Amino acid sequence: MSPERPPEQASSERTEGPSETAILTIDLDALAANYRRLRDLAASAECAAVVKADAYGLGMAEAAPALARAGCRTFFVATLGEATALRALLPGAIIYVFSGLMPGTAELYRAADLRPVLNSVEEIKEWASFCASRGEQLPCAIHIDSGMNRLGLSADEVDQVAEARDLWQTMTVSLVMSHLACADEPDHPKSEAQRKMFDRLRARLPSALASLANSAGILLGPDFAYDLVRPGIALYGGHPRRHGKNPFLSVVHLKGRVLQVRHVAPGETVGYGATSTMTRPSRIAVVSVGYADGFFRSLSVRDGEDSLATYFGSHAAPILGRVSMDLITIDVSSVPEELSGRGAWVELIGPNVPAHAVAARAGTIDYEVLTNLGQRALRRYIGG
Ligand SMILES: *Cc1c(COP(=O)(O)O)cnc(C)c1O
Repeated sequence: MSPERPPEQASSERTEGPSETAILTIDLDALAANYRRLRDLAASAECAAVVKADAYGLGMAEAAPALARAGCRTFFVATLGEATALRALLPGAIIYVFSGLMPGTAELYRAADLRPVLNSVEEIKEWASFCASRGEQLPCAIHIDSGMNRLGLSADEVDQVAEARDLWQTMTVSLVMSHLACADEPDHPKSEAQRKMFDRLRARLPSALASLANSAGILLGPDFAYDLVRPGIALYGGHPRRHGKNPFLSVVHLKGRVLQVRHVAPGETVGYGATSTMTRPSRIAVVSVGYADGFFRSLSVRDGEDSLATYFGSHAAPILGRVSMDLITIDVSSVPEELSGRGAWVELIGPNVPAHAVAARAGTIDYEVLTNLGQRALRRYIGG
């Protein structure tokens, strides 16, 4: 993918006018390619898609239909509100809701043909009594906690309900799932321990499709794929692992515009806190993106640490000083002037500046970088 796409390839109704100062491009072809890649890795397992949090900040309204066109039939979201919005987009999809059954919501699930992921004995009992009252064996997933101690049934709770035929008769358990805590570290022994516990506990529950792997879990190999895999971050171009090369295509491209270029003499400082002092005559580009756009303040330059490199075409240029709400400053001393002058565009996230590199520099993970990309930049969808 080339870092600069001509505007005539854009599919958004809002066109790129001269007043735009930040553009977030989302490549739906790259999203679909990542989906196909994951589906191939999952071999015979069905490849679902996790589109919670507005498709990790990229826009569920565009991402979910693109995934459906790529062949995805089963979707996961976090909340009932997200599920209702997704149902309107994809009338025929299977939709599971991780947050499960809050008191009084069963009818909302039934009405929109949504499936709760039941996370406790209490939720299972509530779903059972609702199904019995309607006389419909409605579908649901059962979530087993295999060692993360977040959502899901503990081993004791599985014991409590395993033999309760009266409960299971009322409903259709279409999926039994669990979630891995350390899959991003391929050698971590916890993944195998969780896999064994998942096998032991799911054997006691009604037979249903089994699902354990998120994106990183898929990369652990076929033993973790079961019947259905649930990737999120890899679809959106994030790196499922902490280290190594990311096998997935970059989907998000954030670029900002140079508002002003200034020449700064040795000894002078740049930005809030006067944290960067110039050691040589420098050209500084002031760019129209800041932490209010999701470009974290923690990307500010700290003493003795390498700063994040942004790109003007193929020329790397390091961030200088602090990231402020609406602006960053970039040292363009070694970038040709015709590429870095007033009005020029700089790549802040994209093929040359992977979300993973931004996350690592900001002390966070790709997920948080993507889900924080704000609404201020012009959003442009290409492909799809
Ligand atoms: C968010 C989530 C996923 C997707 O995880 P990725 O690491 O983004 O692939 C899968 N399963 C559950 C239970 C989740 O909460």
